[in-house]
Amino acid sequence: MLSSNEWRTRTVEDGVVRCPSCNSLNVTMGACAVGAYTIYQKYVCEGCGYEFQAMFGLIGCVPGSNNEGNDT
Ligand SMILES: [Zn+2]
Repeated sequence: MLSSNEWRTRTVEDGVVRCPSCNSLNVTMGACAVGAYTIYQKYVCEGCGYEFQAMFGLIGCVPGSNNEGNDT
């Protein structure tokens, strides 16, 4: 079983989500819960049945595509 930090590092390096328990790529996305500054994405591993959530945090903002002519 990977720790949260190990799983995060591997996910960022590989660019794909793997099961932290059995390392399978065969994971299914479930419900997504949106908080004030965090988003939790549920996954279920089809290989071993392990359920886990990926946690995403607020890191900044970028302009939208509708801002032309809005210079201040
Ligand atoms: Zn698994």
